[in-house]
Formats: sequence, C-alpha cells, structure tokens
Amino acid sequence: MSVDTESWVDRAACRGMDVELFVIPRPGARPAPEAVAACERCTVADACLAATNRDDSLFRAGMTRTTRRDRRQAGARKVQS
Ligand code: SF4
Repeated sequence: MSVDTESWVDRAACRGMDVELFVIPRPGARPAPEAVAACERCTVADACLAATNRDDSLFRAGMTRTTRRDRRQAGARKVQS
C-alpha cells in the first residue's frame, strides 16, 4: 500500500517559479503573463484559492486580491439571501 504524502503545494504549477512574478505592482496592474499561464494550467487552483487569506496581495488561483475579495463578497450575499 502506498501513502500519498504529496500535498497540493507539491503539485502547484507555480512551484519553483519566482514569487515576484505573482506580485501585483500597484492596484489595477495586470499580473505577469507567466503567472497567468501558470494559474491557467494549474490543477490545484481550488486548493490554492481555499488556502489564500484575505491579506494575500499576490496573484493567486488566477485572481488578484480584488477579484478574490469581490467573489467572497458575492458568495456572502448569496448565503444571506
Ligand atoms: S493556482 Fe496559481 S498561484 Fe495557485 S498554486 Fe496554482 S499556479 Fe500557484
């Protein structure tokens, strides 16, 4: 029997990439194309999104912090209605 000890982080498409590629230099700026491409092909984006906290300013799960915040707020409104 094998035990799967690999975490989603080990399978992240951005593993080994320069984290600077995921930095949004200023509000409204576009993420680096390399970061966008990594997130588009990443198979663990859902886990990444779930692990991302509100203060994370990096481009994560194919989204900027602003986009993630908007999604959370939209989700909260759905729960309330
Ligand atoms: S979704 Fe993007 S930031 Fe998240 S683990 Fe995958 S490649 Fe990295």
